Amino acid sequence: MKEKVVILGGGESGVGAAILAKDLGFEVFLSEQKALKEVYKNQLVEEGILFEEGFHTNELILGANKIIKSPGIPDSAPIVQEIKHRNIELISEIEFAYRYQKGKIVGITGSNGKTTTTNLIYHIFNQAGLNVGMAGNVGNSFAYMVARAPKDIYVLEISSFQLDDVKDFKCDVAILLNITPDHLDRYQYEMKNYVFSKFKITQNQTEKDVFIYCKDDQETINFMKANSEKIIADKIPFSIMEKVDRGGYLDDEDRLILNYKEPYYEMETKQLTIKGKHNQYNSLAAGIAAQHFNIKSEKLKACFQSFKAIPHRMESFLTLGGIEYINDSKATNVNSTWYALESLNKKAVWIIGGVDKGNDYSVLKELAKHKVKAIVCLGEDTIKIHQAFTGVVDVMTSAQSMKEAVKVASKLAQKGDCVILSPCCASFDLFANYEERGNVFKQCVREL
Ligand code: ADP
Repeated sequence: MKEKVVILGGGESGVGAAILAKDLGFEVFLSEQKALKEVYKNQLVEEGILFEEGFHTNELILGANKIIKSPGIPDSAPIVQEIKHRNIELISEIEFAYRYQKGKIVGITGSNGKTTTTNLIYHIFNQAGLNVGMAGNVGNSFAYMVARAPKDIYVLEISSFQLDDVKDFKCDVAILLNITPDHLDRYQYEMKNYVFSKFKITQNQTEKDVFIYCKDDQETINFMKANSEKIIADKIPFSIMEKVDRGGYLDDEDRLILNYKEPYYEMETKQLTIKGKHNQYNSLAAGIAAQHFNIKSEKLKACFQSFKAIPHRMESFLTLGGIEYINDSKATNVNSTWYALESLNKKAVWIIGGVDKGNDYSVLKELAKHKVKAIVCLGEDTIKIHQAFTGVVDVMTSAQSMKEAVKVASKLAQKGDCVILSPCCASFDLFANYEERGNVFKQCVREL
């Protein structure tokens, strides 16, 4: 009899897992508690995969030999509790895909910078002619790629949610960019649980594998000190604050130095197309991964110079009347906005606001004082923002819609300034997601 696999969740990773399971000859059933998106529903119908949407039917799910859970479903969901209670094998999509692939894996995790670094590494490897695919949280799911477009190397963006249900999944090269508080609601509001989850990226690595980490990140360093015997991989640091003996760093003359492997590599940061300290970190991490795969220095330099910023991340998309407009809609927490403001080299009118996930704005005050000439608060939840920046930034104002915010911001800005949307907050008050927020921002600017 065929082994029965049930997939919980019908988004990109769930549908990818269903397709892989089908190709492998399992009996497959997918259950989605909400409505399926049209594109996924069509895909399931075309593939002849059985599914239900709008509810979970326990009898259909609990008879499975193996259950693959999408990362969006929390452990606290009743169906997950029941599966655990019955001891049915429960794994994540990346774990499932991992078991059936034969390539090398570069896995990238962290609180901020995952998408940028994943794209950058993919760009470098692709330009260098390697047979590489990019998956995980960006683009196709890992499972879909393993099923329908297998590669020699997979560059995977991996969130902490995806790491939560891995067992044997192992990266040849694991990158942990940084750890700052985020998504704590999924981790019993305990930072240590979130940190532990991030470190799962290295849990199965052997001494032949590489673990690339940020030496300037206190949470990372604290965990590594306390768990040194558990991290077996070759540990390779990067830093922009101090020289490292083997890894990547920023020298006194503002050059990126990669000394992980010979030949060593150096490049002035001003030659990077992506700006700001955060992107120096991302570039160092990507550069070490490139050295690991023996990509030549000239190639690496050309790739750093041809890489384009991805939408919604410090995306400078238009200059109107001498005012530069920057879309950083992806900045949904204080830490990412800190790096955004830090990277500005002109005075800014800053559009901020949305759903506050418990922000502490005090860390932004110093930067705001020097870089921001006016703040436009967007959305309903703006009292905290007013309290934090009144007296720090000269002009504080509010807007109820993006259109109004853009209009006000464009009036407050002068030639030589920039207007930046870097909201510090989630987008769900006025928009479906950060992409929609960024697109509406760009549209409103274009209509000025
Ligand atoms: P993620 O995929 O982890 O959410 P992104 O690459 O999409 O990260 O970047 C999101 C935002 O985080 C960017 O707009 C930028 O302001 C900020 N950011 C990017 N890289 C870093 C980093 N290494 N450290 C801190 N903040 C970063």
